[in-house]
Amino acid sequence: MYREKEMQAVNQKQEHTGSYYAATVNEITNYPVLKGKQSADICVVGAGFTGVATALTLAERGYSVAIVEANRVGWGASGRNGGQLINGISGLEKIRKKHGAGITDMLWDIKWRGNDIVYERVEKYAIKCDLKSGFLETALKPQQMKYAEEYAAERDRHNFPYKYEIWDSEKTRDMLGTDAFLGGFICYRDGHLHPLNLCIGEARAAHELGVKIYEQSPVTGIDHGARPQVKTAAGVVEADSVVLAGNAYSQFEPKHLSNLIFPAGSYIIGTEPLSAAVVSEINPLDIAVCDMNEVVDYYRLSADKRLLYGGACNYSNRDPASIKSYILPRMLKVYPQLANVRVDFEWGGKIGIVLNRIPAIGRINNNVYYCQGYSGHGVNATHVMGEIMSDAIGGTMEKFDLFADMKHFRIPGSQWLGNQMIALGMLYYRMKDLL
Ligand SMILES: Cc1cc2nc3c(=O)[nH]c(=O)nc-3n(C[C@H](O)[C@H](O)[C@H](O)COP(=O)(O)OP(=O)(O)OC[C@H]3O[C@@H](n4cnc5c(N)ncnc54)[C@H](O)[C@@H]3O)c2cc1C
Repeated sequence: MYREKEMQAVNQKQEHTGSYYAATVNEITNYPVLKGKQSADICVVGAGFTGVATALTLAERGYSVAIVEANRVGWGASGRNGGQLINGISGLEKIRKKHGAGITDMLWDIKWRGNDIVYERVEKYAIKCDLKSGFLETALKPQQMKYAEEYAAERDRHNFPYKYEIWDSEKTRDMLGTDAFLGGFICYRDGHLHPLNLCIGEARAAHELGVKIYEQSPVTGIDHGARPQVKTAAGVVEADSVVLAGNAYSQFEPKHLSNLIFPAGSYIIGTEPLSAAVVSEINPLDIAVCDMNEVVDYYRLSADKRLLYGGACNYSNRDPASIKSYILPRMLKVYPQLANVRVDFEWGGKIGIVLNRIPAIGRINNNVYYCQGYSGHGVNATHVMGEIMSDAIGGTMEKFDLFADMKHFRIPGSQWLGNQMIALGMLYYRMKDLL
């Protein structure tokens, strides 16, 4: 099955999956394999957004950093996702409930900080990743229009400086060329981008600041101690601190981390480039779109005007035999007028799901940090988490502790059992979506 294939991949050094992103990448990375004994202040395991964003923040602050990646920079979810830059981190409301209204403003800042970091880095390092502003959350049911009102009221309360609007059904139909939605909420501080090019661009920036990057170097274990040793088949990095950023693809530290997050599949298809007439009918503002269901569908246009349509999160961890057959009917439900459009790409990736939806963040033996499980989000969340991890390594624990102090339930037994339980739970939400 896909999971076994993917998990083997972590140990068998793979090139990128056959995504639209891999086909349009700015740079084919070829960082060396880790060999011999290396030393750094911090060793990061995994070169997705969590690992790369953390390494770049640390390098900007003057630390020496090494990243060790099993496959290629951005090989995991970071280089395969929907590219939707969406504010927020799941589970923040639970953290607010625990600590009270006194931290409302801090959580509001955390919610948006990842977006700020992405916008700042794209500009500062001149990263070409097709970054566009505008993200519309669409309502499929009348009660979901209440969320739109809540989103607007929350921004009003915080004097949000960027543009946002509630769209009624007519405006939504005019702007999206479909009757599928009852309305929506658009925010122009959210947006969309080419995630693999962002990840590779940030890695390049980090490298130019002195970060050593090793690809095709699966980490096989860690020897804990005052200076932990991160081991691969051919080398070792000794560091003061280690950051584990393998997320849904990681099989690390089973004693501490097993059954804490569960991999769930999400899938995307990419059409052939659409004509100018179709583009102006279905998305003239070139915004990202995601529905308000629990199990979401999401879509946007690529820079070359393909429709990238994704969804159908598969919590059982079993992948569909054909991604195209799985996703295309969902796309055609929204856009029946695209029935004759060719599908050029189909791919999937693994999202890290945590039962209580709060990212699983913590420390093992004080100097091995882990940061994983964004439960569907991640482009924004990984970037703010990179900063929070870097703050913690520098001794500022306030935001790290907000997350690390939250209790996580581990499903006893095997990962397989955990996934079946999650799938059962999500069936409930899926049915709720359908009602
Ligand atoms: C199909 C799909 C669509 C999505 N759409 C969106 C979206 O539109 N917007 C959004 O915000 N989020 C989205 N997400 C979620 C988001 O992509 C993730 O939350 C985020 O990218 C996680 O980043 P990460 O760096 O933590 O993990 P990953 O990007 O998965 O990176 C982990 C890395 O660790 C490496 N690794 C694992 N084990 C080892 C080892 N032993 N040794 C060395 N390296 C190792 C892996 O090879 C991998 O490169 C989507 C996810 C998927 C799969």
